[in-house]
Amino acid sequence: MIESQPDPNAVAPAVANLDVIVSLAKRRGFVFPSSEIYGGINAVWDYGPLGVELKNNVKRAWWRAMVQERDDIVGVDAGILMHPQVWVTSGHVGSFSDPLVECASCRRRYRLDELPGTEELTQTDIKDPEIVDRLKLTCPVDGGKLSAPRRFNLMFKTYMGPVEEEAAIVYLRPETAQGSYVNFKNVRESTRKKLPFGIAQIGKSFRNEISPGNFVFRMREFEQMEMQYFVRPGEGAATAFEEWLPRRMAWYRAYGVTPERLRFREHAPDELAHYAKKAIDVEYRFPFGWKELEGIHNRGDWDLGRHQQATGESLEYFDPATEEKYVPWIVETSAGGDRAAFTFLTDAYREEEVRGEKRVVLGFNAELAPYKVAVLPLLKKRDDIVEKCHALRDDLAKDIMAVYDDTAAIGKLYRRQDEIGTPWCVCIDVDSLEDGKATIRDRDTMEQIRVDLSQVKPIVMERLAKARG
Ligand code: ATP
Repeated sequence: MIESQPDPNAVAPAVANLDVIVSLAKRRGFVFPSSEIYGGINAVWDYGPLGVELKNNVKRAWWRAMVQERDDIVGVDAGILMHPQVWVTSGHVGSFSDPLVECASCRRRYRLDELPGTEELTQTDIKDPEIVDRLKLTCPVDGGKLSAPRRFNLMFKTYMGPVEEEAAIVYLRPETAQGSYVNFKNVRESTRKKLPFGIAQIGKSFRNEISPGNFVFRMREFEQMEMQYFVRPGEGAATAFEEWLPRRMAWYRAYGVTPERLRFREHAPDELAHYAKKAIDVEYRFPFGWKELEGIHNRGDWDLGRHQQATGESLEYFDPATEEKYVPWIVETSAGGDRAAFTFLTDAYREEEVRGEKRVVLGFNAELAPYKVAVLPLLKKRDDIVEKCHALRDDLAKDIMAVYDDTAAIGKLYRRQDEIGTPWCVCIDVDSLEDGKATIRDRDTMEQIRVDLSQVKPIVMERLAKARG
């Protein structure tokens, strides 16, 4: 099932420099630094008017593929705060940590395995207390001496209730998965689902990352899109695991990510998370290298087994076909909402030369584009044209995101819509008043067709349905 791994050097990223995306994102209102007028807060980003549309569309596309179109998967939306014991049972209090080193002179802190010179290290190397001396690692900023690595727990803590004491500590969840596990029994009993079945969830997670960065790739507050598939132990899990790999890869491709910039990477045995029997990542060729987009994990009976043991509540499943009773195993697909949106944004970017001028296009799949249609008047001073534009936009907006813009000449308006990935522009001109027709312009081909005003919406809706596949 695993495809051959392309040579990383042979595949160029969609943009050579991440700054191109960061500056477009800021300028056009996709993503802003959080609390910017206060100087910002590290590793938190806010989505602007276009970014929120893009991310909502990504989440909707995921929900469609993972819940709506599947008879065997249902959704939940669990709380971010959970009983603190959940995180002890899940192993996060004990082992959800990264190796941290600190510079003795500037006090900067780094995740050991992200320092230059550690690219080839195995997990055994990373656990070696002598590793900093062995590799003669120094602070990348001022060359200062680095401390030996220590484990740093990534969970954010806060207090529940009016007293800030040890007994009141709760955690901001570092993954959505546990909210699905603790609801396994509720969901199974309320839906009467038979195995195999899945629980899907989209929501915020929080990790006090030691070295966040690369824009929205690694943040301290982010969104996950996770699905837990409950299956028969052993072979049942192995089969489901193999089935989910190509499905998840196909999802990114279906929404337009260049296939050559996607690959699978299997985790080495010493790299596996505390819960995983097997893990394969879907990786994307970002401007800063091949990085994880999504993890597919065979978690065995780690989760339900441990929760059952900790609570005394039976989480066993009675299989009516074989009359066996067992604790289901779990195959998880764990994706990031922000990372996926970032990937679609980056991969959609292209620059072209049109009649001697540079044209920037975000070639989004129409389903993901923030605006589906822009309605543009050829002459903004003509009230009759403007009125028709507003009437058309209002009608389109009942079903899809449609925007009106008259702040520049038509050529410039088209370019602006290209740059934010709007698949279709509709222009209403003086002739429209006579013949009742409008021009639809396609973002990618720049082809223009003249159609009856009454046909604009059906044509756009039909093209949109096609993009959905
Ligand atoms: P990494 O190795 O990059 O730290 P991970 O293996 O810890 O990631 P998982 O725990 O498998 O990641 O999380 C599942 C998904 O959640 C990731 O594939 C990613 O898309 C998303 N994710 C995890 N951490 C972050 C983060 N700090 N910022 C944004 N997205 C994240």
